[in-house]
Amino acid sequence: MKVPLGRIRNIGISAHIDSGKTTLSERILYYTGRIHRMGDVRGKVVGATMDSRTDETNRGITIVSAATSCVWNDVQINLIDTPGHVDFTIEVERALRVLDGAVMVLCAVAGVQAQSITVDRQMKRYQIPRIAFINKMDRAGADPWRVVAALGDRLHLNPVMLQYPLGAEAGFDGVIDLVTMEVHRFEGDYGEHRVVEPIPAELELTAREARYTMLEQLSILSDDILAALVAEEPIPETLIWEVIRQGTLSHAIAPVLMGSAYKNKGVQDLLDAVERYLPSPLDRGAISAQPIQSRRSNATDNGTVDAAIGGTQDPPTIVIDPNPDGDLVALAFKLTVESFGQLTYTRIYSGTLKPGQMVYNSRTGDRIHIGRMVRMHADKQEAIDYAQAGDIIALLGVDCASGDTLTRQPNWVTLEGIFVPDAVITRAIYPKTGEDSDRMAKALNRFCKEDPTFRVSVDEESGATLISGMGELHLDIYLDRLREDYDALVEVGNPAVAYRETIGAATTFDYRFKKQTGGPGQYAHVIGRIEPIDDGFEFENRVAGGAIPKEFISSCKRGFQEAMLNGPIDDYPVMGVRVILEGGSAHMTDSNEWSFRHAARMALAEGMAKAKPRLLEPIMAVSVETPSDTIGRVQGDLSSRRGLLLGSDAQGDEATIQAEVPLAKMFGYSTELRSLTAGMASFSMEFACYRPALR
Ligand code: GDP
Repeated sequence: MKVPLGRIRNIGISAHIDSGKTTLSERILYYTGRIHRMGDVRGKVVGATMDSRTDETNRGITIVSAATSCVWNDVQINLIDTPGHVDFTIEVERALRVLDGAVMVLCAVAGVQAQSITVDRQMKRYQIPRIAFINKMDRAGADPWRVVAALGDRLHLNPVMLQYPLGAEAGFDGVIDLVTMEVHRFEGDYGEHRVVEPIPAELELTAREARYTMLEQLSILSDDILAALVAEEPIPETLIWEVIRQGTLSHAIAPVLMGSAYKNKGVQDLLDAVERYLPSPLDRGAISAQPIQSRRSNATDNGTVDAAIGGTQDPPTIVIDPNPDGDLVALAFKLTVESFGQLTYTRIYSGTLKPGQMVYNSRTGDRIHIGRMVRMHADKQEAIDYAQAGDIIALLGVDCASGDTLTRQPNWVTLEGIFVPDAVITRAIYPKTGEDSDRMAKALNRFCKEDPTFRVSVDEESGATLISGMGELHLDIYLDRLREDYDALVEVGNPAVAYRETIGAATTFDYRFKKQTGGPGQYAHVIGRIEPIDDGFEFENRVAGGAIPKEFISSCKRGFQEAMLNGPIDDYPVMGVRVILEGGSAHMTDSNEWSFRHAARMALAEGMAKAKPRLLEPIMAVSVETPSDTIGRVQGDLSSRRGLLLGSDAQGDEATIQAEVPLAKMFGYSTELRSLTAGMASFSMEFACYRPALR
């Protein structure tokens, strides 16, 4: 089936744990006919269709972002499962990169919770249009207006309620659609029959007021609505829908719908809203890719910046339009291993893909044969023989890493633009036996491929294997997988913070490397300056008159980059240095690439030691959600962890506290928070920045 681009929706569902994302996803799959039986998610014993990994079931959180497709009113909805837990930053970033719009699920009682705030920050970064679904309207204490107020106050969205609830709490029975001014109720065993009825007389006035509020908000975006409102003329539904759609796409508003996934109420209206208001790949428009040439050449004599270490200069970009007739550009955004082999979830940005084609992996240059292609429907797969720009599908048996770009032309472009955060925590692991060691190696290899924020290295002094990642939970989940999926038993060291180093002052270097003890000699001489910058590494070549022959400049640069890997204080990687190579000298026969690389490395290492080096520590942005009567205790505890309190706001019984806290002080925080608040609080955190460390 060739679905026109305008009828595809690639959407994510984001939610704080327990707000009902799994239940809602399952209902969506049921109403769209993708599953035929409703498995109760309560307690997650059986596990709903989307939650297929056992560790998700155990932890009650969804950590794997799979994609599943369904069809609603001729619109193909690709549901990308954005993980709720924000320790998995790269999972979230990846999922966000490939989706065009999102549904934020909020609990009608708990409202905007810690993770909603963190995920919202990420959504803003990718400018993803959102609609909000206030779930659990059937619960005691459900208050959609409070949730809407919080969407405005805490997330600074401009929420527009498109519905008014019919009944409250246990008596919640459906919604009044404020655009059509009709009641929607949901009948049948699973609410599968949407019944449209007139608004009962006793609610007419209230509904008219609610509609007026909605129209007033929309009139700011539309002169037509404003004029009709002033003249008290009827406003066509299609106009209202279109204004809501444009407002959503331009981030001017966030439409709000409500319901109860568990009680099977309101989900079909949400699907209509996904169709009406969220963008198709066409609405999202072109994306930019980086040409391979500029990335590979890393020019040596005009002072370009190396992407590997990070710099400030923007590389040139190529615009990729969502056009099925264009050249193929696709992003492998997620790998999973299933019993039948590797599944590579792929978003196609341009062109088409068919089984039997040959494509290129932009990172490795390898040719890849496209074998089976499938569309994933929860746990089942449908073989397909064609996929086009805008679509999300899975490839079987393709060898590539997560984040790789696939193209039809060799060496063309890469989409690598995903923001890969630095690892902030490291633990040593020691296999128990030789067999465990083999199994561990296999598993670690796999994990690195799936997740670029999971890193493996070897401690130079002890020889121990080190695993690094985005937080305690991030590493815990891989440690569980080592044991459960790979049967590799390991001892685990204490978590350690991944520090960085930087310099606090500018300085010069003048380093001569000379070796003439029999055999061919070695000679290299480099002169220049180093300066502190905000981030990354920059290299500038100002050597004039061939004092250092052109062919050795790239070796110098490589030497400088190598020096950045081990800082002068404690061997931590260095960030925030600009190196300006100004001169030097070479020897007719004794100079070579190696000698310049060595000289540059030594020169920078010595230079940094003189440049007021400083240790930097990772600081985390922490959101804690806690009962109001515990605010003092929680804030006091955060302060004692060297936390910088950024603010708190209380809404009824609940308060949210925002703080920045050094990661080194966050180990074991979940246990401490539980005991401080009798288990009533929850928190989430993500990496914020590096700051000078206190150790
Ligand atoms: P997730 O962690 O966001 O995936 O949340 P789940 O879908 O697993 O739901 C968490 C709990 O809330 C489960 O016990 C659900 O049965 C329950 N739940 C989900 N939706 C609703 C709802 O609309 N009303 C009520 N009362 N409970 C719900």
